Amino acid sequence: MLITAPAEQFLAGYQLREERCSYCKTALQEGHSVSAYAVQYAGDDVWSIPRVYCRDCQSTITEPTLGATELLATGYLGCTMDVATQQSTLTLLGIEQIMKSPAEEGHATL
Ligand SMILES: [Zn+2]
Repeated sequence: MLITAPAEQFLAGYQLREERCSYCKTALQEGHSVSAYAVQYAGDDVWSIPRVYCRDCQSTITEPTLGATELLATGYLGCTMDVATQQSTLTLLGIEQIMKSPAEEGHATL
């Protein structure tokens, strides 16, 4: 079954594993404005967010990848507390803008 949802819906509340800017390595914290890079490869129905940047480091998709649908969402970081494990996770909130690069655009990566 194919599940489709507006990008905002899966991006908002997405728990980030990466807590540093992929470019300048600044530690990202709650309240920071960020750009999150999300990608879905052709034939795959799973989205992932492999990279997160400070808003200043990345604000556009610079090198689109052929065969992948890519999004760059700008928003800010919030903190979600899991009461059961007492662990807090950075999550993406307040998505303001999403830039999209469709699969048929860009260069093949070798
Ligand atoms: Zn940065």
